[in-house]
Amino acid sequence: MFEYFRPTLQAPSLDLISVEQLVRDGIRGLIIDLDNTMTPWNDVNVGPKVAEWFIRVKDAGIQACVVSNNKKRQRVAVVAERVGIPFVFRATKPRRKAFKAGMDLLGTGQKDTAVIGDQLFTDILGGNRLGLYTILVTPINDHEFIGTRLMRRVEKLLVWMMKHFTSVKPFSPKIQ
Ligand SMILES: [Mg+2]
Repeated sequence: MFEYFRPTLQAPSLDLISVEQLVRDGIRGLIIDLDNTMTPWNDVNVGPKVAEWFIRVKDAGIQACVVSNNKKRQRVAVVAERVGIPFVFRATKPRRKAFKAGMDLLGTGQKDTAVIGDQLFTDILGGNRLGLYTILVTPINDHEFIGTRLMRRVEKLLVWMMKHFTSVKPFSPKIQ
């Protein structure tokens, strides 16, 4: 089970994920988390580096969509529109149907879709259960939903257990 919590790749932030590497690894579609991955929690501002990264993704012929568990349609829509990509809100990650909804939007499948997010228990676990390529990013800031803050503690415990009791390395090497 611990394998499910190990991302394929890890990056300090969304804009530092190498688009060239995604292309090399055959990725054609990206399912991207919103809160603390694209923008700070409850903030609709997309930083200039993130906006520029989306242009590079598009230029590389990679499709992207937002798949967020956030229940506020308007908030998810505003951010997705700023970078010109479709979205799913109230997505119920880590459930499989959340990721399938994303792949339906992208027109991609298990072999060429990557999931990008900041949480092990929603983004990485859900993507790995479907056999997708998964990329863990460091959360943009630590201001977040109380439920998420509690899950961070569980994440820390999980990583500690992986380090001490299993042969599964909790993280893949960081890019940069
Ligand atoms: Mg998030």
